[in-house]
Amino acid sequence: MNIAFIGLGNMGLPMARNLVTAGFQVKGFDLSAPVLEAFAAAGGTPCACAADTLQSADVVVTMLPASRHVQSLWLGANGLLHRLQPGTLLIDSSTIGATVAREVASAAAALGLDMVDAPVSGGTASAEAGTLTFMVGGTPEQLERARPVLESMGQRVLHAGGIGAGQVAKACNNMLLGIIMAGSSEALQLGISHGLDPKVLSDIIGVSTGANWVLSNYNPCPGTLDTAPSARGYSGGFATDLMLKDLGLAVEAATNTGAIVPMGSAARNLFAMHSAAGQGKLDCSSVFHLLAARTS
Ligand code: NAD
Repeated sequence: MNIAFIGLGNMGLPMARNLVTAGFQVKGFDLSAPVLEAFAAAGGTPCACAADTLQSADVVVTMLPASRHVQSLWLGANGLLHRLQPGTLLIDSSTIGATVAREVASAAAALGLDMVDAPVSGGTASAEAGTLTFMVGGTPEQLERARPVLESMGQRVLHAGGIGAGQVAKACNNMLLGIIMAGSSEALQLGISHGLDPKVLSDIIGVSTGANWVLSNYNPCPGTLDTAPSARGYSGGFATDLMLKDLGLAVEAATNTGAIVPMGSAARNLFAMHSAAGQGKLDCSSVFHLLAARTS
């Protein structure tokens, strides 16, 4: 099977590497020359432009930053959809709006192409290890076509529903993560403001009704957990700006249906303030410091 891979960034490069390791013929393109070199060193075939990757592709995987990048690659005057052979399968693993996923899938279907949205949970370490979780939107038949490719890059392939449902599932998950991150930070800062040891407080909550994944695996307070980004100056991990983008997608998805997301909106505003304060590149758990008690 010939695969085209477009977008070889922090996530895309290790995912494409895993496809090469699994024995697929992989042609790749990215706007960045250094990542194309790294892709070639891993056994992939680098191309000079996106269109060149598509020749003889059975499957195209895209891992691009945001909705506008996916739209401009496939749609409009310079869009490349018409360069694909009917029957080609598009797998978009970028985190984008569900409406954009449906828009591209509809244009693809009109040309006899299949498309699934397959955003991922798990960061760069999971992309390297091939342990990503894929949340897939599409028909059961399309999912089965995509499965061998997805299983070469991930551990779990979950069917969320029809086209766009993968993006909705991703938005719901990351909205909840943002809310829990903000809430856990608030609780720890409240305790600290009263002189409690944050490690002791985390241990108490960890066996009480406030226990959650953030406190046990991603504790935002430095000194509580050696493996969390808070233990290494909030480097690596999941950047504040990516969290902000995902919360924006969740609020947009809610606006489209009239769903009520006051907690998600509050979390989005909090991470927007944190980003505006120049912390966008730091891991999102650094929002903990925005919530430190002010002495009156
Ligand atoms: P990234 O910015 O590292 O990589 C994106 C790549 O796309 C860049 O290398 C860029 O040069 C390339 N690109 C942009 N426009 C292009 C075009 N027209 N043609 C070819 N290449 C183009 O981002 P990332 O961290 O790899 O994230 C990719 C997607 O995965 C995003 O939607 C992000 O929200 C999502 N995601 C990221 C993480 C994470 O931890 N980094 C986790 C889950 C999901």
